[in-house]
Amino acid sequence: MEEDLATDLVVLQSHLESMFERVQQNSVILQKFRAFEIRLLKLNSLSDIIDHLLEDAKNYFDLDVISICLIDEVGEIAKTLNDNGYSPRSKSGLMLQGRKESLKATAVQRYIGVYDQSQCASLFQHLDRPPASVAITPLTRHGKYLGTLNLGSYQLDRFADNMAMDFIEHLSSVVSVCLENNLHVEEIRRITYLDALTGVNNRRFLEQRIDEELNRCQRNAEPLSCQFFDIDFFKSVNDKHGHQGGDRVLSLVAAAIREQLRDSDIFVRYGGEEFVALLSNTNESKALEIAERVRKAIQALAIAFDGTPIPVTVSIGVSTYQPDSTSISIDEEAATRLVKSADSALYRAKRNGRNRVENGGVVLDRQVL
Ligand code: GH3
Ligand code: MG
Ligand code: MG
Repeated sequence: MEEDLATDLVVLQSHLESMFERVQQNSVILQKFRAFEIRLLKLNSLSDIIDHLLEDAKNYFDLDVISICLIDEVGEIAKTLNDNGYSPRSKSGLMLQGRKESLKATAVQRYIGVYDQSQCASLFQHLDRPPASVAITPLTRHGKYLGTLNLGSYQLDRFADNMAMDFIEHLSSVVSVCLENNLHVEEIRRITYLDALTGVNNRRFLEQRIDEELNRCQRNAEPLSCQFFDIDFFKSVNDKHGHQGGDRVLSLVAAAIREQLRDSDIFVRYGGEEFVALLSNTNESKALEIAERVRKAIQALAIAFDGTPIPVTVSIGVSTYQPDSTSISIDEEAATRLVKSADSALYRAKRNGRNRVENGGVVLDRQVL
């Protein structure tokens, strides 16, 4: 009898110990989760949220893989990220989906369990080796489908269809709230920096970014070129075809220039019929070559308004910032000097007959007196 009691006690003690252990484990998980959530809520840019999810979440939750799909029907998210100097294409694990249908077919339903090629392949295509078990949860907010959060593990039993979903559901709702808030903020920011007529960025955007670009190029020892464009005899386009005709020319010229540049290049309507481009990691000769290509593309545009053709040409001034390898910083006036130099070259292009490219030369880290 006593022996039985002693055995029962040992069994009970061992149960208790394992329960304590589980409570402790749960408390550690909960603490990690809170820390992750607090950090997520404090972030105030879309790129930081994406990085936090793709890079930090794995460590917080001991996951092998994580990916995010975001619905980006008209490419606004891609543009916002590019504008912030963050290349979504180079981010492995981030998928921007242009068409809702493509995701709907695979992942709009929550899925938890063994990795299934037909359901999951598109969500983990960036990996050499697919996970063994996965948890895919849709991100939704106010009934709007934002995308999916996809967690994966190389352990087969890590995600099973009978496991409690509270934690994953909570995580996906917090992520949805953060994403939605940031998408709104980014949209407002984007509109602030957008030129309503042409749909390209405005001068404010250039002013906000130019120092950042210069400093980045200085750090990476890369050249940065500036191109200043001005439509030739634009006043006479307005005079002949009215303001609407002029507006149409402005939009088409802006689109034609944008088409010749890379997504990562900064391109803005500087004012009136003037545009400026900043081309990172582009030296003087390359910038002149691109400017010449743009000039030809504009000349070749077949613009018509009310059935009347409108021939259009642009004059272009180019300048290039060339970092000095011995210098550790650039002076505050470098941005002004870079734009001014391209602007002066543009005026030379006008004086020399228009529809041409002129080189304003190289701008250094410091003004040489
Ligand atoms: P140049 O070859 O020397 O550059 O001559 P230009 O006629 O292009 O230059 P000017 O500065 O004399 O005229 C620019 C014109 O651009 C005057 C202004 O009415 C027009 N403009 C500025 N903003 C807009 C706009 O948003 N829409 C339209 N339609 N016209 C605009
Ligand atoms: Mg002008
Ligand atoms: Mg002009």
